[in-house]
Amino acid sequence: MVAEREKAWAAAASVPDPEVPCVTVADLGILRDVRVENGVATAFLTPTYSGCPAVDFIELAVETALRDAGFDARIERVISPPWTTDWITKEGREKLRAYGIAPPVKGSNSKRALFGETVVACPRCASEKTERISEFGSTACKAQYRCTSCGEPFDYFKCI
Ligand SMILES: [Zn+2]
Repeated sequence: MVAEREKAWAAAASVPDPEVPCVTVADLGILRDVRVENGVATAFLTPTYSGCPAVDFIELAVETALRDAGFDARIERVISPPWTTDWITKEGREKLRAYGIAPPVKGSNSKRALFGETVVACPRCASEKTERISEFGSTACKAQYRCTSCGEPFDYFKCI
């Protein structure tokens, strides 16, 4: 049954994040596990930011992906332990940077990190001379920064 499990995992893991389509739910570490029993695949998902409207969308997308792969699908929402940006994989961080979004500098649950009081390197030129323009970027999960070296604005994926 290992093959079944791998097939189900691959299907669920390929689902892109609706807000940052360059990364998948597996890259973000949202997809915790997939188990297959009697043809029923259960995906265990941990929501990122609570209240993020993307959560329902992600659950539906993963369920659909599992169905398309030939499984009866179930979604289990795992709230504890809470998701942190530490769970973003190395590959996920690379993809974020390539997409022009500064990946979280360091996973932390502290309020300080959430409000962006960290040195954020520019995803384009790697300069650390950056300034925060706005607490909220294109989505509530991101803050907007500008690089004072190359002048480019960019999104920073906030640490939580
Ligand atoms: Zn720059």
